[in-house]
Amino acid sequence: MTASVPDPSARWIAAGSIPFARPSITHREESAVLDALRSGWLSTGPRVKEFEKAFAAYVGTTNAIAVNSATAALHLALEAFGVGPGDEVIVPTWTFAASAEVIVWLGAKPVLVDVEADTLNSSPDQIMRAVTPRTKAVVAVHLAGLPMDVKGLVRALDGSDISVLEDTAHAFPSQMGGPDGPFAGTVGRAGAYSFYATKTMTTGEGGMLVTDDQAIADRARMMSLHGISRDAWNRYSAAGTWYYEIHEAGYKDNMTDLAGALGLVQLDRAQELLAARRQLVGWYLAAFAASTLDDLIELPGSTNEPAHAWHLFVVRLRLDRLHIDRAEVIDQLKTAGIGTSVHFIPLHRHPYYRRELGATDDQFPVASAEFERVISLPLWPGMSHDDVERVVTTLGAVLRRAQRTPQ
Ligand SMILES: *Cc1c(COP(=O)(O)O)cnc(C)c1O
Repeated sequence: MTASVPDPSARWIAAGSIPFARPSITHREESAVLDALRSGWLSTGPRVKEFEKAFAAYVGTTNAIAVNSATAALHLALEAFGVGPGDEVIVPTWTFAASAEVIVWLGAKPVLVDVEADTLNSSPDQIMRAVTPRTKAVVAVHLAGLPMDVKGLVRALDGSDISVLEDTAHAFPSQMGGPDGPFAGTVGRAGAYSFYATKTMTTGEGGMLVTDDQAIADRARMMSLHGISRDAWNRYSAAGTWYYEIHEAGYKDNMTDLAGALGLVQLDRAQELLAARRQLVGWYLAAFAASTLDDLIELPGSTNEPAHAWHLFVVRLRLDRLHIDRAEVIDQLKTAGIGTSVHFIPLHRHPYYRRELGATDDQFPVASAEFERVISLPLWPGMSHDDVERVVTTLGAVLRRAQRTPQ
C-alpha cells in the first residue's frame, strides 16, 4: 500500500527530465505539518516559537525572529537600523531583487557595487570604496552559499556607525573558517535567512532574522506584527491577555505555524541536506574532470572552501570558443530535459535601476562581463549520481557541437 503512494512532485516534473531545483520533503515534514493542521492553531503559535528558539540555538544568536520571507527579514532589519530618506545603503549589483528593493521601500538610496570575478561576491575593498558620509548600512550577500569576507568588512567598518546586514538567503548553514567558525549571518549586526522553496532549507515561504542586538530584535519583532506590543500567540493563548497597544504603524510579516512545523524538521535535517549537496558537488567535479571540457567551461572557484553551503552550482561558459550564446545553451539543455537557471541578472541590468540610478555596464565591468556566461546547474538533495552524469554529458554534447573551429 505504501509503495503505491505516488510521489506528489512527479506531477510537475515531466517524465525523464531533471528539474533545476526541488525541495527535499520526507514523511517527517508531512506528519509535522499534519500535526500542526490538526492542532487547531494555524497562525503564529507554539511551533513558530519553538522554531525560533531552535534556530537561535543552532546559529548561536540571542535572537531569532521568524517571518514570512527573507525579504521581510531584510526590510525589518534595515528599518530597525533606522535606515530612511537621505541615507545610502551599499549592496552588490550581483544579487536578487529583494536585497535592494527593501532599501528603496525605506526611502533610502541603494548604492550598487561590483563583485570579484572569482567569487562573484563583493570584497570589503569594493564596498569600502563606495562609503560616503551618507552611508548608513551595507547589505552583504553570500552568493551561491560561498560566504563573502564579512569579518573583513566588519573590521574595515570598525569605528564607523555603518551597520552590516548579511543577506544569508543562500548560505545556511555555512560556518566561516570550518566547523567551529561562526555561522554566516551572525557576524554582522543582523542576518536574514530565506526558507523559500528552492533554498538550502525550506518552509515553503519563510525567513528568519537573527541578531545579538536586543534593541534591533525588539524593534523588528514589534514591527513584524503591526507595531503592536504583543503577538497573537500572547493575545489568544491561555496565558495571554486581550490588551495590546499600537506603538508604530507596523507590517504583517509573521510566520504561520504550518511553516514553523516544516522549519523545525528541515532545521533538524540541515547537516544531512548539506552533506547531500556536498556529495553532488563532488560528483559534478569528478564528472567534469572526466569530461575534459575545461577548454569550454569554467567550474566554480572555491570548490575547496569548507564553508560553502552549495545553494547553487554556477559554471561559466568560455564564450570566446563557442558560436552560440548562453541563452542558446540553456534552450538546448531545456530541450534535452535539463532545467537550469541564471543567478543573477545583475541589478544594474534591470530597467528600474538603470532609470533610477543611471546605472550602466561600465560602472560594473566584472559583473557585466561575467553575467553573460553564467549558468546554474541542477543541485538538490535527491538528485542521483546518474542525474549528475547526465547533466554533464548533455552539457558537454551541447558545447562540443557549438565549438568554434580553431583558426
Ligand atoms: C531568495 C533570495 C532572497 C529573498 O528570499 P525570500 O525568502 O524569497 O524573500 C533574498 N536575497 C537573495 C540573494 C535571494 O536569493
